[in-house]
Order: sequence, then C-alpha cells, then structure tokens
Amino acid sequence: MARIVMKFGGTSVADLDRIRNVAARVKREVDAGHEVAVVTSAMAGATNQLVAWCQDLSPLYDAREYDTVVATGEQVTVGLLAIALQTLGVEARSWTGWQVPVATDGQHGKARIASIDGAELIRRMQTGQVPVIAGFQGIGPDRRITTLGRGGSDTSAVAVAAAIGADRCDIYTDVDGVYTTDPRIVRKARKLAAITYEEMLELASVGAKVLQTRSVELAMKERVRVQVLSSFSDAPGTLVVDEDEIVEQEIVAGIAYSRDEAKVTIRRVPDRPGIAASVFGPLAEASINVDMIVQNVSEDGTTDMTFTLNKTELPRARAVLEAMHAEIQYADLSIDADVAKISVVGVGMRSHAGVAGTMFRALAGRGINILVISTSEIKVSVLIAAEYTELAVRALHTAYGLDVV
Ligand code: ADP
Ligand code: ASP
Ligand code: MG
Repeated sequence: MARIVMKFGGTSVADLDRIRNVAARVKREVDAGHEVAVVTSAMAGATNQLVAWCQDLSPLYDAREYDTVVATGEQVTVGLLAIALQTLGVEARSWTGWQVPVATDGQHGKARIASIDGAELIRRMQTGQVPVIAGFQGIGPDRRITTLGRGGSDTSAVAVAAAIGADRCDIYTDVDGVYTTDPRIVRKARKLAAITYEEMLELASVGAKVLQTRSVELAMKERVRVQVLSSFSDAPGTLVVDEDEIVEQEIVAGIAYSRDEAKVTIRRVPDRPGIAASVFGPLAEASINVDMIVQNVSEDGTTDMTFTLNKTELPRARAVLEAMHAEIQYADLSIDADVAKISVVGVGMRSHAGVAGTMFRALAGRGINILVISTSEIKVSVLIAAEYTELAVRALHTAYGLDVV
C-alpha cells in the first residue's frame, strides 16, 4: 500500500465527462489499496475568464479581491469531483484551501505556502476517505483567501504530498510527460523518461508550463517524488529525479519558450552610482519581478536600461516607473509586449563549451534577431520578436540533435 497524491490539471477536469474519467482513475488507485488524496485545478479556461473579468473592471485591481474571484474555479471542481467519486461508491470529501488549512504568506495573487496541516487529511485517509483538495488557493495571515500564481495547483499538490508524507505525487495533465520541448509546438519533441530536479526547475522557470516552478523547488527541498503523466492514457510518464539517477545525460535537456514577458526600455537615464537601485528598488517594493536586465554603455553621461517583466505586471510597473520620472528624469519609457524568451537548458552545460554559440548560429541561420541575452550555469536565454517563437524553438531543437528520428 502506498500513500499517493493525484493532481489533475484544467484540461483533465474540463467537463463532466472528464471529471468522470478522473473519478474512475482515482477509484482505480483506491481499489488497488492505496491511500489517495486528490488536488484539482479549475476547469480549463475558467481561471482565464475570472482573471479577465478582474482586469476588465480595473487593470490596477485590488489583489485581495482578485484572489476572492479567481479561487472560485477550484471550488467548483473539487465539489464536482467529490460527487463523481461518491457516485462510483468512493467515499470522498472536498476541501478548499482555508479548510485544510493551507497557510500562505500575504502576497495576494502569488502567495507562497507557509505550512499545511496534514493531520486531519491523514486521519480521514486512514479511514478510507479520499480528500479532494482545491489547488491554487490558501489562506493568508490576514485570514483572506490567497492564490499561488498561475499554474499554482502543481505547487499545492507537492505541498500536500510533503505534508502528508506521500510516497509520490502524480501530476496528471494533457500530455504524457515532460518532453524535450513543448510537444504542441514541435512534433518531433521527445518524451523524457526522467529529468533532474535542477533541469526541470530551470525549464519551468523559463516557461515550460508543464510544472509550476515553485512545485519543483518544493519537491526538490522536501524530497517529494514527482511524476508527470497523462490523465487520458496509461503511457508511462516522466519522473523527476536526482542527477545521479540519470544514466545517459544529454548536454541539453530541453528548450522552453515564454510569451509571458514584456520588454521595457527606459532611455537616457542619468548614469550615476545608485541609479539601478533607484529603478529596481521601487519595482521590487511593489512586488514586481524583473527578469533579464541590460544596461547600455554610457556615452554622454546617460544610459539606456532594458529589462523584462511579466506582462500581467505591466500596468502596475508602468505606474511605478512613471512615478519615478520626477526623481530620475529619464527621456522616455517604451514597452514592447510582442517578445518571446527562448531558453536552452541542460546540466551538461557545466562541462561542455559551445552551447551558446550553437544557439546563436541556429538563430542567425533563420534570420532571427536577438534583442537580449542572459545566461546562468545551466541555461542560455534570448529575447526575440514573438512572431519567431515557433521557428526559433524548432530550429534549436534540431540544432541540438533533440528531434525524434
Ligand atoms: P494543466 O492544466 O494540466 O496544469 P498545463 O497547461 O499547465 O496543464 O501544462 C501542460 C502543458 O505544458 C502541455 O499541454 C504543453 O503544451 C506544455 N508544455 C510546455 N513545455 C512542455 C514540455 N517540455 N513538456 C511537456 N509539456 C510542455
Ligand atoms: N487554475 C489555476 C490556473 O489556471 C491553477 C492551475 O491550473 O494550476 O492558473
Ligand atoms: Mg498547469
């Protein structure tokens, strides 16, 4: 007997037939004698709709009210899945975030889980009950509903797994594992039997949506065994493992893209000590994460600063940057939201030179201009015009020899 967490994403619970399918899968594990806790997302598209409603009413919406609205999607699916399970004769009960409780910090809209009390869940599981837990949500120090950022139910699942001491956390989604790149863009993408925590973390952080970044971070820290698999087939999935568990290590594990970022340039900023702190300090205070940063070489005592940030933060970032104009006196502020970040990830980069060179050559070969470059120990990222996203990802996938033959 094992104790397992089964997490189902939006596509897996998109309608009643799919919820029935999920219920049948859960029943299979229960019938096999396992103790099962389930975590679900909202129905596919539901969260997007809820977010759009908030933005429509006010681009600078109150994050507490945003959380109240967007957390409702998961409340629907946990209730429906509990009913579907009961219909199959499985004893099940739904749980929203505050009922567990999933305690988070107070960063509404992108809260971090602080702790989960798993005692009651364990007690119920030991009596044969299946807890069906709403992903993506928790309760903040202000005792209001919080949400964990887009894709956050993966993190809920891993956190629940850690809290109840689960033997594994199975993430069921609409693809049957982690591929060398998004299989919806590259047909020749290859499924990986296993991927290291580190590579998965890096891939997730640069846009591979299959797992939320924090879920991988947490799995790594809490030693949770995560598996990504399909809720529509019984194909073997992808295991997230330690580096020494991988037999044949490729130099490049995968390629990711993100269209979620926008490029911001502030031109002719006075080039003096402390200027970067004056720009990025207020953004950080407003909880706006900045990603790639370049500062041009200064010529006449001024410099241009370019950086990227998440598109959803643009309205707030613009307000912060405009407010600092009185102090910083930059010439102008320009924003380009039609960009994409393409990243190549692999632990093999530590010991192999030339990975970046291959990337630049492959992109040049397709006439794709690079706007910004950034690197880390196991990753190279470039920012390009969004219209070339697919072309770039396919070209790189071929250039690194990742195509299925
Ligand atoms: P869920 O709703 O189940 O959480 P998501 O849409 O969040 O599903 O994540 C699954 C999607 O991630 C896939 O449909 C796929 O398009 C995308 N994806 C991006 N990169 C990868 C990758 N390297 N391997 C597998 N899927 C990927
Ligand atoms: N429903 C939330 C979202 O769409 C959480 C999730 O799917 O993981 O972002
Ligand atoms: Mg997801």
